[in-house]
Amino acid sequence: MLKVQDLITHYSGSQALFGVDLEIEQGQVVTLLGRNGMGKTTTINTIIGIVPATSGSVSFDGVELVGRPSFKNANLGIGLVPEGRQIFPNLSLRENLVATASNHLKVAEPWTLEGVFSLFPELKERLTSMGNLLSGGEQQMLAIGRALMTNPKLLVLDEATEGLAPLVRKKIWQAIAQIRGQGVSILVVDKNLKDLLRIADRNFIIERGKIVWSGSSQQLRDDKDALHRHLGV
Ligand code: ATP
Repeated sequence: MLKVQDLITHYSGSQALFGVDLEIEQGQVVTLLGRNGMGKTTTINTIIGIVPATSGSVSFDGVELVGRPSFKNANLGIGLVPEGRQIFPNLSLRENLVATASNHLKVAEPWTLEGVFSLFPELKERLTSMGNLLSGGEQQMLAIGRALMTNPKLLVLDEATEGLAPLVRKKIWQAIAQIRGQGVSILVVDKNLKDLLRIADRNFIIERGKIVWSGSSQQLRDDKDALHRHLGV
């Protein structure tokens, strides 16, 4: 479904990605792991087109995304839950969900407000609250709900549970499992390795802008050397 090949990205003069290769198959949960500053967010933002690629290829369902504006790439069915959530602060929770809702792919049973509330019941109680008054956990649930309201085929989560309390984290992981159960492919970045490995079909480790390891969760659990060398655990 998604095939990233030899992706190179620069910020002004400084190179951040040095030829990233990564693949996601239909229905898979794939993680992008790596220590701080190794290029996870840059990879995600380059895939979507928020940051322009210098060279390389990102093929999504057979369409080449490099060189296209990010909104057009999103319309192909990529939903982003960005680092820092980026909830619209001066819109209500409901408005945040509907403001960017769409069904460009004309899926037969699109996500609805009720569908999002069945995933995150706590959001329903905060329907009229302004975005900036929501807790971090509510904002993250809202960011996921907002992305789902665009009916993505691929959901991309950058720092899925960053800064959230353990109970909220648990709810987010449960929701991600449910979303996957509905056939949505998922690319996820997070620091909670244990939670990630439990849900992932495949894992990619990035180091200094290049993928240095990939494999299943069991392969990674067994590869103590890779865990230590690339992730410091
Ligand atoms: P973190 O876990 O800390 O978010 P990351 O793995 O997501 O890290 P990136 O944010 O992609 O890493 O950063 C990769 C490299 O690119 C780092 O060296 C970083 O300093 C640099 N970088 C990131 N964003 C910018 C920017 N807007 N301008 C210049 N350099 C940047």
